[in-house]
Amino acid sequence: YRSQHQDRDNSMGINLANDDQLRDLAAALNTAGAGSWTATPLVPGAPATGEKIAVTNPADRREVVGHWQASDAATVEKALANAVAAQPAWDATPAASRAALLEHAASLLEARMPAYMAMCTKEAGKTLSDGIAEVREAVDFLRYYALQAREHFAPMALPGPTGEANSLQLAGRGVFVCISPWNFPLAIFLGQIAAALAAGNSVIAKPAEQTNLIGYAAVKLLHEAGIPQDVLQYLPGDGASVGAALTRDPRVAGVCFTGSTETARLINRALASRDAGPIATLIAETGGQNAMIADSSSLPEQVVKDALGSAFTSAGQRCSAARVLLVQDDIADKVIGMLAGAMAELSIGDPGLPSTDVGPVIDEDAKAILVEHAKRMDVEAKPIAKATLGEACEHGTFFAPAAWELHAIAQLDREKFGPALHVVRWKADELDTVIDTINATGYGLTLGIHSRIDATIQRIVSRAKVGNIYVNRNQIGAVVGVQPFGGQGLSGTGPKAGGPHYLPRFATEKTVTINT
Ligand code: GLU
Repeated sequence: YRSQHQDRDNSMGINLANDDQLRDLAAALNTAGAGSWTATPLVPGAPATGEKIAVTNPADRREVVGHWQASDAATVEKALANAVAAQPAWDATPAASRAALLEHAASLLEARMPAYMAMCTKEAGKTLSDGIAEVREAVDFLRYYALQAREHFAPMALPGPTGEANSLQLAGRGVFVCISPWNFPLAIFLGQIAAALAAGNSVIAKPAEQTNLIGYAAVKLLHEAGIPQDVLQYLPGDGASVGAALTRDPRVAGVCFTGSTETARLINRALASRDAGPIATLIAETGGQNAMIADSSSLPEQVVKDALGSAFTSAGQRCSAARVLLVQDDIADKVIGMLAGAMAELSIGDPGLPSTDVGPVIDEDAKAILVEHAKRMDVEAKPIAKATLGEACEHGTFFAPAAWELHAIAQLDREKFGPALHVVRWKADELDTVIDTINATGYGLTLGIHSRIDATIQRIVSRAKVGNIYVNRNQIGAVVGVQPFGGQGLSGTGPKAGGPHYLPRFATEKTVTINT
């Protein structure tokens, strides 16, 4: 991506076929964790109290990688007071200076990619290729929002009659709370924070409880790059105590949240029930029940490759992941047969090995939901395939990728966040019904289309109520500034992350008219 106004390149990756680069990574993985990582609240002036909680490796629960300390009520209060006091000076800092600090953080992160990838593997169970994508996306978000700040915060002169000068200026809203998910513990965490900071807000960041150590390291990195400690504070804790205390507080001007639709509703309710303070902004990116539609003109080999990648990469733990493959009946037997064959080849196990395709799911709760779902599907649907877990999976929270054939999407209840794919057949005259059924789920995040008929593609694109459509490819891995990401309906409020309209939502607008 290159902006119309300034050059910006997307980040560099790591070549896993290059021995030197792989050696750095192996060294980082060997030294990573070993129980040594700690995360305490980063709140200037708050006493360090609170229980220390052990973090274990999802791939091997016997391995303790570190500890984190929950924020108590006094720490939450101190963080809010600090954030309120720090925001005006940060807002008064020129946007270009704020942007420069974020760009500095991006360069630091890019240079230390192996260390951060290792954390993603050890705390979040990410495979190496997912870890590379994760760090790159984080770097891209930092640079993209820095660029956006330079562009949007330049005063905009507007037309007017002779004798009148009009301009539009942006400023921060105040205190922003960023609540991020464990599935992109670095990229989404830093993306939210970077946008809120770039726009002139002070930020209180609460990562998902499962990935507090990565969140801590990310905030430390931004402090090292020069973001003041009271402008960006780190507040680990659970949603019910820390999250709820923040979202009901009238000092909070906005919340940026990525996670479940249910939690987004809770946050929305908490913000709306405040009797004081500003009418808060909520930017929420939530779940999906994402479909891939393949008609009889599509190539079965490509459909299978892209369905497999979209459903099982990152152990299916992406909001964008394909949950339902809708195949036209003419090619369904062939696709289902090839899918079963391809699933038998998946390598499931240690996410730190370059040969692993699918790592663990995030925790016992996630696994239990999937196991329960599989039991139900085994009875109510027709099993297509279940991948095999190796011995290396014995001590981790692994769930073998599985696929079933259903009669209809309606057989599914809510989104199952993991490597579970469902296949439904449709007939030539049912395309519109298929699209209506997808829309009727109420979710609208990603949609995959496989077809070689332009009119079919256009028909689906124009009717589908979704945020991101991918044609004849996989439907995950949106690139910052290239595929702005986010959904509609139950899938989120917008604006899209990594898109040109994201940053302004974090800001207020001031129109100034001068009679000259
Ligand atoms: N942006 C990611 C993708 O395109 C998904 C983000 C998410 O899972 O929240 O795959």
